[in-house]
Amino acid sequence: MPFNRRWRRPTFSEIKVTDSFWSTRQQTLVRVTLPTQFSQLESTGRLENFRRVIDGEHGKFSGFWFNDSDVYKWLEAVAYGLAIEDSPELRSKADIAIDLIARTQRPDGYLNTYIQYEKPDMAWKNLSMMHEMYCGGHLLEAAAAWHDALGDNRLLNVAVKFADHVMSIFGPDRRLGYCGHEEFEYGLIRLARATGDTKYREFARWQVDTRGSRPSPFEPELTDEVALSMHRGQVGQCLRDGAYNGEYLQDHAPVREHTSVVGHAVRAMYLYMAATDLADGEKDEAMESALRRCWDSLTKRRMYVTAGIGPSGDNEGFTNDFDLPNGTAYAETCAAIGLIFWGQLLLEQTGESDFADIVERSLYNGTLSGISISGDHYFYDNPLESRGQHERTPWFPCACCPPNIARLLGTIGQLAVGIGDDTIAIHLPIGMTVQTPLATIEVSGNYPWESEVTIAVTPRTLEPFGLAIRIPDWADELGLELEVADEPADYQDGYAVYHRVWSPGDVIKVDFGTEPKWIEANPAILDDLGRVALSYGPMIYCAESTDNGFLPQRAAVLTEQEVAIAYDASLLGGVTTITVPAIVDQDAFPDGLYADLGTITLQERDLKFIPYYAWNNRGKSSMQVWLRRA
Ligand SMILES: [Zn+2]
Repeated sequence: MPFNRRWRRPTFSEIKVTDSFWSTRQQTLVRVTLPTQFSQLESTGRLENFRRVIDGEHGKFSGFWFNDSDVYKWLEAVAYGLAIEDSPELRSKADIAIDLIARTQRPDGYLNTYIQYEKPDMAWKNLSMMHEMYCGGHLLEAAAAWHDALGDNRLLNVAVKFADHVMSIFGPDRRLGYCGHEEFEYGLIRLARATGDTKYREFARWQVDTRGSRPSPFEPELTDEVALSMHRGQVGQCLRDGAYNGEYLQDHAPVREHTSVVGHAVRAMYLYMAATDLADGEKDEAMESALRRCWDSLTKRRMYVTAGIGPSGDNEGFTNDFDLPNGTAYAETCAAIGLIFWGQLLLEQTGESDFADIVERSLYNGTLSGISISGDHYFYDNPLESRGQHERTPWFPCACCPPNIARLLGTIGQLAVGIGDDTIAIHLPIGMTVQTPLATIEVSGNYPWESEVTIAVTPRTLEPFGLAIRIPDWADELGLELEVADEPADYQDGYAVYHRVWSPGDVIKVDFGTEPKWIEANPAILDDLGRVALSYGPMIYCAESTDNGFLPQRAAVLTEQEVAIAYDASLLGGVTTITVPAIVDQDAFPDGLYADLGTITLQERDLKFIPYYAWNNRGKSSMQVWLRRA
């Protein structure tokens, strides 16, 4: 299907998440995650950097030069949090941050505490590394969020001044320039929507279209000692064999010529988000095929089974096809979130459910693992195997992931539903109430633990309209029944669609047929050879030593035998566990390292699995997703 926006996201007044899985997480977001993140913003000097600029002090700047972005992302998440559940305490914390930001902005619109405080004459001198537009992009997204979710324009005024300032320096008739870390482009798109001024969208288009220019605007910076005096750390990433190669920051070629996902994973996701949004209704075949090529490269050759992406810590990003090591997987939380954001835009542009399958996979696995069940500890990298060295922490010196997962958790409802002119699409069958101009839709059930979902429709129109229900890729047997009549659904692009005149009380019952399933990997993924992973509905499972009293690395699973499923409300906030028979290598072994074949004794033991997202919530442990197959 050509890119032509089919569904928009529901506003906060149109959707209420009632699902026990997600509503508890959204409650934790407002009551724990966002307040504790504010404390971190204060104690790590991120807010103090703004105060120093305001007070005209000089001295050492705290932390990384792009730390302003954490404040903006936190504010974006707060807007969503407050729209879900008002909290005067949280609101007053946000007021402090908003006030500081507004007072820090220079009269000409420039805003970046590192440059203003440390290098006031060095603005826009090192676009590849200094992240001024990246930070600004998060400011713009936060501003749009406060406008959209709360009708509060305080940040929007700051954002408009900042964007206008950037556009007074860069542009088609001005200086060629875009940021080494993409984000400003998507921020501009959101600013255009919030203000109704399309010039911001067109400026985003110009930045996306000129990326990959030769000579690149980044090239002169890499030998400019003035620019490098601020930061030279990423010069090596930008060069190959001594010559400029922009793969690390997706500046290797114009986007329409991209053939695969390369470089820094988060940057790539943010660039493709903007490019996807901008392709809406443009009939830009070159852009659409480039985006589809990159999506295929990513999801068919470069993505973990958890939908973690970017296996390497060296470039925080992509390496080669099928290079997906488990224990050293970088799989940054932000990258998995970026994959959700991009996939959701592709879904909304094309109406094709394949994109939602990946969004859902990332949501319940490689993204959700990024935050503890308590809501105040985070993973930066999300490995698929641990030998006990990994543990979530309350914050990071480079703290991109914590506020990023906060803004994602605040918008679960917006991911679950699509609203079209004459269709309402259920992308994720989570418990929720949706109120649109066409109808009120109530979805209830106990997803993802149970596969039966009830969808009740109360129309607000006498005209016919469609209800489209996504059929997940993992659902082998779909039970679908319109209770009031014997009408078959139409099947389009992976959705079951009922298009009809509705009456109050009409109910659809869906059974997605969730069963535990063993998965094997393409043999080209050498790290997974001879191994299997276990899934249950949208969730990938893992075995953790905490549940088993032995290392899961010692176990080889018997995939032909019966498994036992049990919901345990007292475990890890309530999870369904799956216990499977396995052969385990025993400890008894003579002193020394090696012995004749047959020395090891094997024993059949039960191996208990939990959802991958829930691992490491009971201290350090050994964990494995891909188990040896007996
Ligand atoms: Zn991150």
